[in-house]
Amino acid sequence: MSIKFSKLGDRFTEDSGISSLMRDLGAALQSNSSMIFMGGGNPAQFESVNAIFAREIANVTSNKELFNKYFGTYQSPEGHIEFRKAVSLMLSKELNAEISIDNIAISNGSQSAFFIIFNLLAGKTSEGKRRSILLPMLPEYIGYTDIGLEDNFFVSQRPKIKLLENRFFKYEVDFDNLVIGENIAALCVSRPTNPTGNMLTIKELQKLDVLAKASNIPLIIDCAYGLPFPGVVYGKFKQYFSENTILVYSLAKLGLPGCRTGIIVGNPKIIDAFNNANVAMNLATSSAGPAVMTEMMKDNKLLPLCKDKIMPKYKVKLDMTLKLINEIFTDLNYRIHVPEGAFFIWFWFKDLPISSTALYEKLKKEGVLVIPGDHFFPGVKEDWSHSKQCIRVSYTQDAESISKGLRIIYNQIKKLY
Ligand code: PLP
Repeated sequence: MSIKFSKLGDRFTEDSGISSLMRDLGAALQSNSSMIFMGGGNPAQFESVNAIFAREIANVTSNKELFNKYFGTYQSPEGHIEFRKAVSLMLSKELNAEISIDNIAISNGSQSAFFIIFNLLAGKTSEGKRRSILLPMLPEYIGYTDIGLEDNFFVSQRPKIKLLENRFFKYEVDFDNLVIGENIAALCVSRPTNPTGNMLTIKELQKLDVLAKASNIPLIIDCAYGLPFPGVVYGKFKQYFSENTILVYSLAKLGLPGCRTGIIVGNPKIIDAFNNANVAMNLATSSAGPAVMTEMMKDNKLLPLCKDKIMPKYKVKLDMTLKLINEIFTDLNYRIHVPEGAFFIWFWFKDLPISSTALYEKLKKEGVLVIPGDHFFPGVKEDWSHSKQCIRVSYTQDAESISKGLRIIYNQIKKLY
């Protein structure tokens, strides 16, 4: 049967770069069970942390009243009220701000929150103009790429590159060339950035916020790995918040991607619009996340878990990975982005003689999966060679796999010269 799709349907039947990459990753994993997976965004599995979450779930499932509250009834469009209260109290304290339950919405994962928020703001306006989301600093999260329901949905800006000692480098927002035209509906940054682990400085965020406010548009901060939870951030960083920001959180990187819970913190106007759109799409939001987290947040157990267990466990993995890179890659011309958060190494091989996608194919044949860098540059207008010289490598696997994977990457690149 030939199905006639709408324009929107056509968009989703076209094979976008991202969906074919994701399919390719899935097929490679299925065809080779010993494949080392350094490509995905899956969080590491820490047994002692999982045991805490499992206990919270058991408390709910073993109590008839709680079971019915979380799993036997639809939540209101705004999401579970006790959960929102717990989030609002925790964040008010942490961000030193007055955040009420009217500032908070709950979504089925933060990905779907971005889908709704971006499309609420950007696209065709009622006056017939087209507006876009500006990503003020590339590279940026691969998952934004296909979110826009209209063409030219993203506008983006190349960063400045600051070379640092010990083969590190850091991207910085290029404010000299940042133009926020009338066609911009919002700014969005992930912090820490997926794929680079960059923590934009508070100064950069303040400057972005001032520019956004002057244009009467919000600054969206994707806190999927950020502060205060899951808090996968290495060093003394603070969270940024203002009346003009929309913060988007997720429970996924705590180790709970299956709960599909996102949390949006913004002004009530955006929260109301979000809730109405969410009802149309989902009717109600999943209660799995609130079931695990409400008591933990109320009892002030979540943030200590992030600070004292989750972040240090990732830091151990990061330190081990950096040490291995230092040992293995010595005679290659490489740099890595200073890893300030999240759980990826962003490699830059400046004189790579093939594209990062061709390198990805070679590595796949050798049994290791990474993500080629050029997928993290949504909205770039002109070709930028830098985007083809980078790869993202996750360090969530066990030590042996990370070591084996890094050696394969080294050997393949070494062969190219
Ligand atoms: N934002 C960033 C930066 C991410 O890395 C991810 C997932 O990998 C998401 C958002 C979406 O996460 P989820 O939908 O699981 O909350």
